[in-house]
Amino acid sequence: MKYFSTNKKSPVVTFKEATILGQASDKGLYFPEYIPQVDKHLLDNIVHLSNEEIAFSVIKPYVGETITDERLFQIVSETINFPMPLVFLNEQCASLELFHGPTLAFKDVGARFMSRCLGEFVRDKNENVTVLVATSGDTGGAVASGFYNVEGVEVVILYPSGKVSPVQEKQLTAMGGNIQALEISGTFDDCQRMVKQAFTDNEINQKRFLTSANSINVARWLPQQFYYFFAYKQWAQKQSEKKLVVSVPSGNFGNICAGLLAMQSGLPINKFIAACNANDVVNHYLKTGTWEERSAIATLSNAMDVVHPSNFVRILELFHHQFPQLKEKLIAYSISDEETLKTIADVYEKYKYILDPHGAVGYLALNKFLEKNPDSKGLFLETAHPVKFPDAVQNTIGVSLEVPEHIKYILDGEKKSILMKPDFDQLKSYLLQ
Ligand SMILES: *Cc1c(COP(=O)(O)O)cnc(C)c1O
Repeated sequence: MKYFSTNKKSPVVTFKEATILGQASDKGLYFPEYIPQVDKHLLDNIVHLSNEEIAFSVIKPYVGETITDERLFQIVSETINFPMPLVFLNEQCASLELFHGPTLAFKDVGARFMSRCLGEFVRDKNENVTVLVATSGDTGGAVASGFYNVEGVEVVILYPSGKVSPVQEKQLTAMGGNIQALEISGTFDDCQRMVKQAFTDNEINQKRFLTSANSINVARWLPQQFYYFFAYKQWAQKQSEKKLVVSVPSGNFGNICAGLLAMQSGLPINKFIAACNANDVVNHYLKTGTWEERSAIATLSNAMDVVHPSNFVRILELFHHQFPQLKEKLIAYSISDEETLKTIADVYEKYKYILDPHGAVGYLALNKFLEKNPDSKGLFLETAHPVKFPDAVQNTIGVSLEVPEHIKYILDGEKKSILMKPDFDQLKSYLLQ
């Protein structure tokens, strides 16, 4: 399998090159030259297959010969070594819980897969690779956890001081080892600007081999297909009706794009719902065919406060830029903060089920669709653990949330960070030392 750049001005590359490079030099996103079709045998027998077998079959054509089968199977097994249960709230609607991983969000899947692939690819290099990443919260934690102790890889994370939640800060700063947190006395935009400048600085690039771990990397995008197959497997065990609708809380549109890729590969999903908060530029696009220039609005589902969804170009590519076909499969809903809180309260009252704000957006978007299409059934992705958003959730349902046992050790760890001004020269001297 080769990958081309969506801007079509860079050479095609292998999976290995695409993983190491992250983004193509023409600033396009890497995209597979063809969409492999899943074996009919796999779909017919999916309830009898292990998740490891399913994930391996799904990812193998994308990886090709760049990793041996034996090692790939091991990487896949480590990537998905936590539960991803489908919890039915009623006959018509289920929650796919993707928050049981080490940082309590679905980003763990992509980050764990990418870190292991990158570790594999740099093993026979003499030099270490430095993963440089700016985070507003969730990404940094998933990257820190995913890359922890991966040999040959150093991770440097920039985060805005005082602007991430206490749990998120511990996830960034308490790992130690090959993970270094730089606490920037500025905003997320400052962090991102410093990181971008570092990638174009000759002196730094002579001294260090830099790469990014952001969500456009193919090694983070492609493994996100796995849990759509796991969802289908669990669905098929319970439901004879296979006309499935899937609602995905969306920001950069990487997660839903992986689902659409799985669908184009043959996974029987009828429609996808892009569940958005007030930053609903895609909703506008699907209605009008044009992009609106806007600034991001801060919402309760803050991981989705995105107005330039970087992965959307891949969705267009998946549909060969055919707008009518795209609109047939993809529907968008915009959910306000008031609706989000009301949904958290309603669902707790009705089912004693606790949603986080992102999952609440997904749930309500799905249910708005089901109201209009009563013969459909569907599931939504619960992308983060409610305990990551204690204020919104606890105040709404009046129940205090328990931190899951398996992440308590991180909260007990000691915060270690290097305080830095939002000044590129300081980052530069740090990286050159
Ligand atoms: C990142 C994130 C999203 C948005 O996912 P995209 O792939 O950017 O669309 C949704 N929910 C949570 C909790 C996230 O961390």
